[in-house]
Amino acid sequence: IFDVLVVGGGPAGAAAAIYAARKGIRTGVAAERFGGQVLDTMGIENFISVQETEGPKLAAALEQHVRHYEVDIMNRQRAQKLQAAADGTLEVQFESGGTLKAKSVVLATGARWRQMNVPGEEQYRTRGVAYCPHCDGPLFKGKRVAVIGGGNSGVEAAIDLAGIVSHVTLIEFDAQLRADAVLQNKLRSLPNVEIIVSAQTTEVTGDGQKVNGLKYKERVSGEIRHLTLEGIFVQIGLLPNTEWLKDTIKLSPRGEIEIDARGATSLPGVFAAGDCTTVPYKQIVIAMGEGSKAALSAFDHLIRSSAP
Ligand code: FAD
Repeated sequence: IFDVLVVGGGPAGAAAAIYAARKGIRTGVAAERFGGQVLDTMGIENFISVQETEGPKLAAALEQHVRHYEVDIMNRQRAQKLQAAADGTLEVQFESGGTLKAKSVVLATGARWRQMNVPGEEQYRTRGVAYCPHCDGPLFKGKRVAVIGGGNSGVEAAIDLAGIVSHVTLIEFDAQLRADAVLQNKLRSLPNVEIIVSAQTTEVTGDGQKVNGLKYKERVSGEIRHLTLEGIFVQIGLLPNTEWLKDTIKLSPRGEIEIDARGATSLPGVFAAGDCTTVPYKQIVIAMGEGSKAALSAFDHLIRSSAP
């Protein structure tokens, strides 16, 4: 039985494992893919104190740092159920058929960006197709970009990018934007932003190396149009990897694990951190801080609980 079992091996899970192990308690990490979203990232320029690094390099460093401690790393393990026994012992079941028991659990299963699923999107991912304006906005300084999605995150991204790039085209599928009115007003006040509604993105185009535009269908006329640009920010939703928790843990309407200021969830002894939670702003440094916090809270829970 683990004192702390961490589920997820991204920045949040790695930080939680290190903080727990440094308390000298029995710590395990089970992850579907150690490294998490960092593995899919090319350049990282906002990991404070490291001017520039690459995702796979940072992922390897995360694993190396965790392995420096006595932590059981169980890679390629996808959790499918969490439950609490009558005595409070927590059990995590995996798709492989195995079950792990723990006195406390840190959930750090992260999230994934919803994709458009159109031709070219996958081919030009990280070569013009981006999902995170905080991460990749500065790479498009002075260039033309599109933002796909007119919800709050799309409109926020468009306002943010308009201050960096030369021109932003915001594309929304519906006949109107869904963002809060105050954001829409701000967006409409900007001189270098164009808004296109009732438009369905149908293809990301490129020259074989990088993005050079996108095609969209005008949903009213049915006509296909082409925009020339260098970057496309897809902002149609960030999906937390929490489907397997919906019967056990309180989730927000968006499926994020609800946590308090200490990372505690609705289930005693279960803490959560990073992109799978309600924490605002999904970033590597934030996930690491949150993971550390959740592990310290788990330790605090252990020293206060009666179980030996
Ligand atoms: P993740 O990194 O998502 O890790 C989740 C972990 O949980 C993984 O190990 C996963 O395999 C595992 N997991 C999921 N479900 C299960 C399950 N059921 N059972 C077991 N394990 C499971 N942030 C920055 O700060 N700077 C950047 O430049 C930057 N660029 C980015 C570029 C891209 C393309 C993407 C996709 C994201 C980028 N981000 C960037 C965001 C950053 O990667 C995330 O905020 C960060 O990785 C979140 O860490 P996390 O540990 O919460 O989750």
